[in-house]
Amino acid sequence: KPSDVHTLPDGVPEALEAEGIAEFYPPQAAAVEAGVADGESVVASVPTASGKTLIAELAMLSAVQRGGKALYIVPLRALASEKKAEFERWEEFGIDVGVSTGNYQSDGEWLASCDVIVATSEKVDSLVRNNAPWIGDLTCVVSDEVHLVDDSGRGPTLEVTLAKLRKINRDLQVVALSATVGNADEVAEWLDATLVESDWRPIELKMGVHYGDAINFDDGSQREVPVGSGQKPTAALVGDALDEEVDGKRGSSLVFVNSRRNAEAAAGRLGDVTAKRLAPDEQAELERLAAEIRDVSDTDTSDDLADCVRRGAAFHHAGLASEHRSLVEDAFRDRLIKCIAATPTLAAGVNTPARRVIVRDWRRYDGEFGGMRPLDVLEVHQMMGRAGRPGLDPYGEAVLLAKDRDTMEELFERYVWAEPEAVRSKLAAEPALRTHVLATVASGFATTREGLLAFLDRTLYASQTDDDDRLAEVTDRVLDYLAVNDFLERDGDSLQATSIGHTVSRLYLDPMSAAEIVDGLREGVESAADAGSATRRSRPSGDAEVPADADAGFATASDLAAEADGDDATGGDAEDGDAEDGDAADGPTVTPLGLYHLVARTPDMYQLYLKSGDRQTYEEQFYERETEFLGHAPSEFDDVAFEDWLAALKTARLLEDWASELDEDVITERYGVGPGDIRGKVDTAEWLLGAAEQLATELDLDGDVVRDVRAAKKRVEDGVREELLELTGVRGVGRKRARRLFEAGIETRTELRDADKSVVLGALRGREKTAENVLRAAGRQDPSMDGVESDAAASAAAT
Ligand code: ADP
Repeated sequence: KPSDVHTLPDGVPEALEAEGIAEFYPPQAAAVEAGVADGESVVASVPTASGKTLIAELAMLSAVQRGGKALYIVPLRALASEKKAEFERWEEFGIDVGVSTGNYQSDGEWLASCDVIVATSEKVDSLVRNNAPWIGDLTCVVSDEVHLVDDSGRGPTLEVTLAKLRKINRDLQVVALSATVGNADEVAEWLDATLVESDWRPIELKMGVHYGDAINFDDGSQREVPVGSGQKPTAALVGDALDEEVDGKRGSSLVFVNSRRNAEAAAGRLGDVTAKRLAPDEQAELERLAAEIRDVSDTDTSDDLADCVRRGAAFHHAGLASEHRSLVEDAFRDRLIKCIAATPTLAAGVNTPARRVIVRDWRRYDGEFGGMRPLDVLEVHQMMGRAGRPGLDPYGEAVLLAKDRDTMEELFERYVWAEPEAVRSKLAAEPALRTHVLATVASGFATTREGLLAFLDRTLYASQTDDDDRLAEVTDRVLDYLAVNDFLERDGDSLQATSIGHTVSRLYLDPMSAAEIVDGLREGVESAADAGSATRRSRPSGDAEVPADADAGFATASDLAAEADGDDATGGDAEDGDAEDGDAADGPTVTPLGLYHLVARTPDMYQLYLKSGDRQTYEEQFYERETEFLGHAPSEFDDVAFEDWLAALKTARLLEDWASELDEDVITERYGVGPGDIRGKVDTAEWLLGAAEQLATELDLDGDVVRDVRAAKKRVEDGVREELLELTGVRGVGRKRARRLFEAGIETRTELRDADKSVVLGALRGREKTAENVLRAAGRQDPSMDGVESDAAASAAAT
């Protein structure tokens, strides 16, 4: 029982009992037995939803009670805020909770006073690289979903970060929470922790395969779920769960599919099933929710989602805006939304249990593999583990689908009866080591090759391999690479990061990205200089064309200017040009597209995928805009490299469109992406351009380049052309509002501050509160709109 644990802050056991935690679940009891509340390291490998979070809380709360400080590492940013909100209920017991999201300087100061800090592994890695002062105070570290060390992309970061934290504090308590995996004992051995392993769950989980007219469960039982003619099995299963009422509540379903498009399509169809089964009051509430969803953004995705939601279904994938995601998750938890069709991102983390989980697609397209590939047992088990809500459902059901008897047998063998895979370190790969070796040396964790190898010996990789030579071999190759690119200096056996190497590590860049950026910027400066000081390198039309209907009445001012300058029709680049460049006419000019392309080429940016028709489109654009690229384009006969270059061009064009005020809707359509993807690309570009700016400054590249990089970054950050940058600097003024204000003749912050109120109100579409806030933000003393009539002409122009 919680009250048997005497190391917690006063009042906490009572609070836990008041929450309904009368007794520990068996894995929790085992963890307490192993000393988790007394500072002992523990690896808990237990199924989803069996109370892992409480194990972590016991460790953290007792660590703080002993005067220490705890860190909770999450795998996804979305989870960080969820966990923080969960832990904030301990604030009444004097525990300060913080989440690390901002940059390290602002974090370093205020997080130092927090008792419990939540952050992603990348964030923690970055904080360690930047010597955040409080890292040394940590006494307890929790690693959530530690089985993700197996992920080749992000696993090595978690692995190396844990090794560093344990090197900083040799007595560090490590609590690692894991799904059930094949080799939890190895993970425990690596972390010098006691293993708590269990397959106990708080609610019975029945796993089965639907075939023919019934679900066949692992316990030998069957449940009849006939599939009507012309009906899909998924629809039959979702309808069947809804028709079963327990305590007057219908059963909800979570359907896992293998792509975003499939999630959207399935949700559309399943809406037919759920719509028929809604009570009138639910319909009214869903209509309200749908309106709220439409309000989030003006995109097709938003509309499609709202259309599904008003009928009681929803889709969920990484392309959704985060506001959309939380609206859907909350409504599903409240059982207002009856069914979600999701890609597997939902299975990792976010707490959205359902009575029935349907794993519709157990194969997924794998580009490297070149075809459809079965999912891991671990993944499928995690999806299945979302079934059943303790206290709400009598049991959970997880169902796979089979068309024939053979497939049913295969699915039982492959997933229902199968043990999950073992977790394997992915550290000994060059891209991972490139980054981590530099960071390890730069932040002083190793000063010699021997020291580096000794440090790497503390990783899971080292504890799993018999082949010590392989790690040494890859490490040496990586050291060569870093030395050749001037990130590291070697003197005999000793290793030292150069000043630029330190910067790269602190900026959290893959050294390969940094090398690409540095080369590209240098090349840009040189070729501009070559073009001669008299004839400035001709500036190509740097901006995307803006369709007349993209945003009503918008392109006038800059387009007129462009025409007057004889720029070509697709131009509109005049705005960031001539007036400002006049005084720098002989300086080098680097275009935004060139810079977007440069950062899109780095391994730190996931490029957009080239679809079949795309190759020709972007090949044409490649020739049109050839002069803008920074760095040497590969020959078109070098197929792979050339495709990569074009994919980066497609990505760069998206960024350019965004920075040219193209509507979100037009962009999602043109590039076949979701609004969340635009956000993702924009964030990454912002970070990489910020890094490029610092590198250019530090390398003392020509001053104009720094200015060009900064402008390109600001534009992509705010999604506007250069002439609006001052307005978007005013709080509350986004890209659309800025454009409308500009159209109404207000071009600067001062002009906004002193503007005629009726004009401002008109440009802001008559929204008084908004107009007041905006005026106040611009520095107006009397922003009140009382009695102000919106200017009719301005308002006509705005609509
Ligand atoms: P996991 O992290 O393992 O997926 P959670 O920690 O989210 O699972 O726990 C799932 C739910 O079980 C939570 O709502 C939690 O409050 C509840 N819970 C945890 N431990 C107990 C307990 N001992 N008694 C009752 N409910 C519990």
